[in-house]
Amino acid sequence: MKSVNSVMSMYGTTIFEVMSVLAREHGAINLGQGFPDTDGPSDMKEIANAHMVDNLNQYPPMMGLTDLRRAVAEHNKRFYDLDVDWENEVLITSGATEALADCMLAILDPGDEVVVIEPVYDSYLPMIIRAGGIPKTVRLSPPGWELPEAELKAAFSERTKLVLLNSPQNPAGKVYNPTELYGLARLITEHDAYAICDEVYEHIVFDGLAHTPLMSLPGMRNRCVRIGSAGKTFSMTGWKVGYVTAPPALLAAIAKAHQFVTFTTPPMLQAAVARGLGNDNAYFGNLAGALQDKRDRLAAGLERAGLGVHMPEGTYFLNADIRPTGFQDDDVSFCQQMTRDAGVTMLPVSAFYVENEHFDEMPRHFVRFCFAKHDDVLDDACDKLEAYLAT
Ligand code: PMP
Repeated sequence: MKSVNSVMSMYGTTIFEVMSVLAREHGAINLGQGFPDTDGPSDMKEIANAHMVDNLNQYPPMMGLTDLRRAVAEHNKRFYDLDVDWENEVLITSGATEALADCMLAILDPGDEVVVIEPVYDSYLPMIIRAGGIPKTVRLSPPGWELPEAELKAAFSERTKLVLLNSPQNPAGKVYNPTELYGLARLITEHDAYAICDEVYEHIVFDGLAHTPLMSLPGMRNRCVRIGSAGKTFSMTGWKVGYVTAPPALLAAIAKAHQFVTFTTPPMLQAAVARGLGNDNAYFGNLAGALQDKRDRLAAGLERAGLGVHMPEGTYFLNADIRPTGFQDDDVSFCQQMTRDAGVTMLPVSAFYVENEHFDEMPRHFVRFCFAKHDDVLDDACDKLEAYLAT
């Protein structure tokens, strides 16, 4: 029989799934997978429910419901002072994942180079390669996660078509600062490239830091695609409603890909997300505030358990160094052993690196915890780790 596609068959089951299966098998507390264990705003659920009962169940417009597209444009203005024409610059997708895939399919031609920053979110590489792009990775390492200027510059060439920027970044918890963003903008302009900005954690930023979309920098408005996710902003990851803001020429191409990938996104969810994006500033502030408290709670507990905690600036992930516990093996063994024997699951940070010729140099002693969980779940996990690691 003929073989199936070589790119897709190259990838095994993701570490997220592998660790979740192990967690279930051992009845472990799962702080590996990144999703909140509390649903988002009940008024949004009521709106979605009412619309479903009230017959908003057929194909909505391909670009998305007008109310939501307007709400996305207004959200861009309110938070980032971006003037966005909702009719020509906003598209609704089935999650940020679909938006990312649409962008690769719409923008890349075979042979185009894409600058990608590691550690990398898992869908980026397969979709770049499947679309014919050639990834050029730039590596960030814990605990500082500094963007190395020389390596970044070296990753660009005359064939660079795209840069993929995830800020705030999963799993690093890094929020790119203005100096880094200006440097990136300069390289993008010099190489006549575009940027896909995965900003799904835009409202999960801590300690008074501000998230700055690359799109808001001088010269970047017509070179950037900005992607948001209702799943993250409203703590309902299963909804899979994403929103794309892009200049008209890019958006038209991305919309073509969307047309052939999903065509539309569930309308009752879109209606509810339109309401959510209109929430007052307090909603967005409270989301970050509540998660910052959880970050601090988990950090204190993990420190008590003997791990070397590094505070994230954003996202709902925290990374910890396993070496202070005296554990001798690598991050993958640590995650497996803690799942099996301590009853707590986390993810190895090495899983977010590309298996290329530099694979051996990547960090192998950091693990990622998700802290978007009930306080008692976080406490319980820390107690279990503390008890186990003390033995
Ligand atoms: N990008 C990043 C960096 C993410 O962490 C996630 C979700 N884990 C996504 C994209 C996907 O978002 P969605 O669920 O809206 O597809």
